[in-house]
Amino acid sequence: MNSQKELSIISNVSAIIISSLDIQRMLHNLVDELKKAADIDWAAITRVEGNNIHYLAVLANTNSTHKVDEQLPVKGTAYEWLVAQRTSIVEPDLTQESQFVDDRRYIRQGIRSIAHFALQRGNKFIGCITLASRKPNAYSPEFTGIIERLTPLIAAQVENIYLYNEAVEMARVDELTGLHNRRALNEMITSEIKRCSRYGGVFSLIILDIDTLKPVNDTYGHLVGDEYIRQVGSIIQKAVRSTDRAFRHGGDEFSILLPQTTIDDATRVAERVRQRIASATSETGVSITCSLGVASWPNCGPEVNDLINAADTALYQAKRNGRNQSNNTATSLKNSRKKREPSIAIPPSTR
Ligand code: GH3
Ligand code: MG
Repeated sequence: MNSQKELSIISNVSAIIISSLDIQRMLHNLVDELKKAADIDWAAITRVEGNNIHYLAVLANTNSTHKVDEQLPVKGTAYEWLVAQRTSIVEPDLTQESQFVDDRRYIRQGIRSIAHFALQRGNKFIGCITLASRKPNAYSPEFTGIIERLTPLIAAQVENIYLYNEAVEMARVDELTGLHNRRALNEMITSEIKRCSRYGGVFSLIILDIDTLKPVNDTYGHLVGDEYIRQVGSIIQKAVRSTDRAFRHGGDEFSILLPQTTIDDATRVAERVRQRIASATSETGVSITCSLGVASWPNCGPEVNDLINAADTALYQAKRNGRNQSNNTATSLKNSRKKREPSIAIPPSTR
C-alpha cells in the first residue's frame, strides 16, 4: 500500500469516526472505508465489563452468532489478552493456529483471519475493535499499522458515545428514586403500542398515587415526604417482574408498564404493590398507603394519552372510594378525568 493511499484512508476514516454518535453506525461506516484496503467479513466493537465482554456493535457478512448487547465471559479470550497487553494481536489463519477459547466460534462462522486492537485513551482501557475475514492472511502489517494509528481516535469517539448515552439516559431518570421518568414512560408506551399493533397482544398500565402526602409534608417536612416517595419507588421496583418497567412521573405519582399483561393480571399486580406499600413502615414509624388505577391497551383507546387517561380515571375513582385500594377501568364508572377531591388531611400518625 503506498503512503498516499494510507493517508487517504486515515483522513477519510478520521472524518467518519467523529461524525456519528451511534456506535453501530460508526462501525458500519468505518468498515465500509476500511474494506477499500482489506477484506472484512465480520467486525465488532466490544467493552470489557468485569468478567464479561459486552458486544456494543457487531457487523457481519457471515452467519454471525454474536449479537449486539450480548455478554460473554472474557476468560481465555483475545479480549482478556488485550486488557493485559494493551496492544493488538493478529491471528493470520485460525484453522492452522488458534490461541483463544472463542476462536472455535469464529471458525464455525467461516472466519479464517482475525485482528483485535485495544482501544485506549492514555492509560485508560476503553474497549476493543475486532476485524475478521473468511480469507487467511487478510491483514498485512501495513494495514494493522493503519488501524493502530487510528485506535486513539476510535477510542476517543467510543468514550464520547458512552458519555452521550449516559447523558441521554440521565435525562430519562428521576433523581429522587432512580426510576425512569415521565419522558421515558411516554417513549416506552409508544414503543409498546407499535409492537402490539404489529404483532398483536395487550399490555397494561398501573398509575399509583401516594395517599395524603401533603399532610405528611406539612407535619414532618419535605425531607420526610421525599423519604416516603423514595421508599414507595423502591417497593414498586422490587415488587414487579424484570420485564415490567416502573416510573416516577411527577410529584407523588408513579406508574408501572406491564408488557403482555391483561387488565386482570395487572390488577393483581396492583393489589400486591398496594399491600406491600401498606405494610411497609417509614422511618417515622408511620405506614404509607397509596391508591392505584389500572388500564390496558387497546381497550382504553389507541393512543398513549388514552391509556394514561384511562388509568388516571380509575385511580381517581380509587381515591373517591376511600384510598388505599386499586381500581381498574373495567370497574370504574368514570370515563373522563375529573378534578380530584381535596386530600383528606389525616395526620399520618393517626392513620
Ligand atoms: P391524595 O391522597 O389525594 O393523593 O392526597 P395528597 O396529599 O397525596 O395530594 P396530591 O397527590 O393531590 O398531591 C401530591 C402532593 O405530594 C403535593 C405535594 O405536597 C407532594 N409532593 C409532590 N412532589 C413532592 C416531592 O418531590 N417531595 C415531597 N416531599 N412532596 C412532594
Ligand atoms: Mg397523593
